[in-house]
Amino acid sequence: MFIDISSLKKSYSSGLVKTEVLKGIGMKLEKGEIGVILGPSGSGKSTLMNIIGGIDSGDSGKVVVDGVEINNLSSDLLTEYRREDIGFIFQFYNLVPNLTVGENIEVVSNISKSPLNIDEVLAAVGLQDKKRRFPRELSGGEQQRVSIARAIVKNPKLLLCDEPTGALDYQTSRSILRLLQQVNKKYGTTILMITHNAAIAAMANRVFKVRSGEIVEATVNEVTVPAE
Ligand code: ADP
Ligand code: ADP
Repeated sequence: MFIDISSLKKSYSSGLVKTEVLKGIGMKLEKGEIGVILGPSGSGKSTLMNIIGGIDSGDSGKVVVDGVEINNLSSDLLTEYRREDIGFIFQFYNLVPNLTVGENIEVVSNISKSPLNIDEVLAAVGLQDKKRRFPRELSGGEQQRVSIARAIVKNPKLLLCDEPTGALDYQTSRSILRLLQQVNKKYGTTILMITHNAAIAAMANRVFKVRSGEIVEATVNEVTVPAE
């Protein structure tokens, strides 16, 4: 089991008001699978993903990723886990504006233990001609491809995508999803993706429906690869 979560709880307090955001989450994803977390805004999807990625922590329960209970890691090991094992992709790309495409990717490859070749990664996302461009010179879809290249250059075990197509039109979204499927196949990367779009769930091996901090449904799909 690649991701094995049980009884995960998380609350936020502000003043006297305590809000339980995750109310005992349990979910499993196998190595090499694509999983989708589907649910309305405010249901706890980002909190769950941030805990899996080691940028937030649960209050109780177990989060085991690739055999390691990440809630028990020292802060040094947690940093290493985040840096080496996890690739993050966000809705708004988060590229460094005054660095070129190549430099944006280089920043990550420079701090990775066993990075992939930058030109190979650029070719994998179809941007071999844009290495010297700046993010502002690219379309939204191209910028998201750069952020995918930046996330995969460290050859992470797990790619966490928070609404990766949320800012893109339908056709561009489809091509980004196809690219993520190719990355999953080519590098064997396990992918977990947040969306509130039911159509996107069709590409996943497993779909976890979240409502108010609970998984109300977990389904296994027969994956259909969208046609060109
Ligand atoms: P989703 O990703 O499904 O939109 P989130 O995980 O972002 O949901 O948020 C779930 C709930 O937790 C929301 O009500 C949000 O306001 C609250 N929340 C998230 N992060 C924090 C935080 N750092 N402090 C307080 N409340 C938070
Ligand atoms: P069909 O042509 O069979 O009606 P669609 O064109 O609606 O199918 O969708 C085909 C695939 O495109 C879906 O399986 C899904 O992977 C992807 N997809 C569907 N809707 C969206 C969307 N809003 N954003 C991104 N990708 C989508």
